[in-house]
Amino acid sequence: MIGNTDQIGRGEHYMATGVKAPPTTTISDARSPVLVAMADTFIGGMGHPGSPIRVAGSMEDTFARLPSAADRRQLRLILRVFGSRLGSLALTGRAVPFHRWSRDQRVALMSSWSTSRLAFRRQLFQIFKRLSLLAFLGDTDEDGTNPVWPEIGYPGPISAPRPVPKPIRTTVLDGDTTLSCDAVIVGSGAGGGVVAGELAAQGKDVIVLEEGGYYNEADFNQIELAMMQKLYYQGGFAATADAAIALVAGGCLGGGTVVNYSTSFRTPDWQRLAWATRHGLSWMMGDEYTASLDAVCERVGVNRDQTRVAPRERVLQRGLQRLGWHVERMPRNVQGCSQDATCGYCGLGCQSGAKQSTLRTYLLDAYQRRARIIVNCKVDHVIIEDGKAVGVRATVRQPGEPAWTLIVRSTAVVAAAGAIGTPALLQRSGIRGAAIGRNLRLHPGTAVVGVFDEPLRPWEGTMQSIFSDEFINVDGDHHGPKLESGPMHPAILALVVPWRDASHYQRLMRSLPNMSVLAPLVRDHAGGRVIARDGTARVEYKLTTQDVADLRRGIEASVRVMEAGGATEVFTSQSPFVVYRPGQRGGIEAFMADVDRAGYGAGQMGYLSAHQMGSARMGADPANSAFGPDHESHTVKGLFIADASAFPTALGTNPMITIMAMAHHASRVIAAAC
Ligand SMILES: Cc1cc2nc3c(=O)[nH]c(=O)nc-3n(C[C@H](O)[C@H](O)[C@H](O)COP(=O)(O)OP(=O)(O)OC[C@H]3O[C@@H](n4cnc5c(N)ncnc54)[C@H](O)[C@@H]3O)c2cc1C
Repeated sequence: MIGNTDQIGRGEHYMATGVKAPPTTTISDARSPVLVAMADTFIGGMGHPGSPIRVAGSMEDTFARLPSAADRRQLRLILRVFGSRLGSLALTGRAVPFHRWSRDQRVALMSSWSTSRLAFRRQLFQIFKRLSLLAFLGDTDEDGTNPVWPEIGYPGPISAPRPVPKPIRTTVLDGDTTLSCDAVIVGSGAGGGVVAGELAAQGKDVIVLEEGGYYNEADFNQIELAMMQKLYYQGGFAATADAAIALVAGGCLGGGTVVNYSTSFRTPDWQRLAWATRHGLSWMMGDEYTASLDAVCERVGVNRDQTRVAPRERVLQRGLQRLGWHVERMPRNVQGCSQDATCGYCGLGCQSGAKQSTLRTYLLDAYQRRARIIVNCKVDHVIIEDGKAVGVRATVRQPGEPAWTLIVRSTAVVAAAGAIGTPALLQRSGIRGAAIGRNLRLHPGTAVVGVFDEPLRPWEGTMQSIFSDEFINVDGDHHGPKLESGPMHPAILALVVPWRDASHYQRLMRSLPNMSVLAPLVRDHAGGRVIARDGTARVEYKLTTQDVADLRRGIEASVRVMEAGGATEVFTSQSPFVVYRPGQRGGIEAFMADVDRAGYGAGQMGYLSAHQMGSARMGADPANSAFGPDHESHTVKGLFIADASAFPTALGTNPMITIMAMAHHASRVIAAAC
């Protein structure tokens, strides 16, 4: 399996490797040799000699899909610079185009950039590392296999999708169209789905517009890259502007509820009190909101019975119990979940249909009550006349069809495009306000990986069955790390597993069958922002000193849990390989000093956010909120909010049920208005 690609020049890779590019790969212009060389740098001798060419083709594809023209231009410029003598001189100090360097030279450069003092070098390193490894580890060759999976003990897909018919017939356009309805809902995730179902149940004429496509059990093939491209926001490759925090969110009909891990916590009482008293959402303290929580939990089947603990979490449970720390079973929104091997693939869509996403619940309810649902439909802006929202303008791009313009005229407009999409939509609509795009919270988390003697097959089993709240309130104001885990698949791990060179990476990945992970996530103190730039959302965000302190506490706690659970090696997601082996000199204190030295800054530690919120928040004061306590915009009548962007602050726990319950509450107000 060791490839012999060493120097890769323009057109020379065929000679160097002796292998023809797979037919799907397009080596179309002078920039591509740089991408092939970049892919070869990261995957090195792994795979087979054609792998860098496949991966470069996949990277081209990812670039082409980036929604921002500015991002696409910037990346192409970087590749041009790498590929020219002068550009390479300026970037690297060597007047030789990058693709003419030997592999050893390229590896040495990227490895040094991973820990560079210059943030832009770390940023470029992260971008190319993630792109290369996501494509390499998460996809297959034309014959449906991946040569590296057997090497790292990963089975790839373990069951084929069943041919389940799609129960919703989406509305298909055949030209520019104008429609009208009582309420148009932008986005179909946790918030939008619930509002659609509830409004339709109250007899309202509803139209749901969703930017992503419609996929169901029949499409969920368990291949990471393919599923990310179909189901995730920006194909799973979104990040903050400095590339420090990977942003994972849903981007299909059903939004995040299709890909999420089905953990279903109710809104904590202390948070209900805080949002009621500090932000004017007094209804959060009342029976009505409790009834909304009850109603959504009932509809999406939340229970604590279907939580069989998978081996990868059993070792963590053991560690937590030995330490005498809090550990509890997860509430989950699943019905008839087999909790067996296939369950671990549920972040790529639940093949068995056990996960009660909005796709299988509220959107279906809405459809059965005559709601119209349009997919591949990006809402460009809200139409505002005389200070009132009267509809939306959207662009529909159905596969194989030209782009059509859709105008929907409605009495109410509901923004439910998620905490990145909604503020961008509001800004594109010319809606001004101090809180639009501000106060974005991310629940940033990192990964601490443990290697155990016993085989754990960490891609298998119940998504999340246990958690620990031992440290969630370390400051008396509900800040601190929440400890959760999740299944481990090789491509998503590329976001957090350190890369020093390909053979080191391969060594780490060979331990995959014996790995488990803890992902401490923190309730962040301050906000980032979302800015609509050339029509697409740019996310700017910085961790505060307190957030870093909370994450540090989470890392230390995770290492202790891993050690108590029996791990033989524990490492962080930092760029240098920072490792703890039980019994090592200086113990955990010395290890934490190594962690501190490796740093917590952008590109120094791998961070991930699956919970974006707060970017168009609700509140009584228009000076620091975008929507009132009644869910309606402070400045535009008839415009309502029903997604995670409405949260006044970071929630502190997994947000789906809170988003759904707030949307349920919003539906009562919206129904009265239309
Ligand atoms: C991998 C993963 C695991 C998670 N696990 C859990 C968990 O176990 N428990 C939990 O509580 N939470 C979990 N979450 C978080 C949870 O799923 C989200 O917080 C929740 O789905 C957000 O709901 P929302 O309505 O705000 O947005 P979303 O569910 O993201 O829905 C927004 C929708 O709007 C669409 N959209 C965006 N812009 C436009 C536009 N201009 N026009 C039309 N449509 C648009 C998007 O494509 C998307 O489908 C997870 C998230 C991810 C990604």
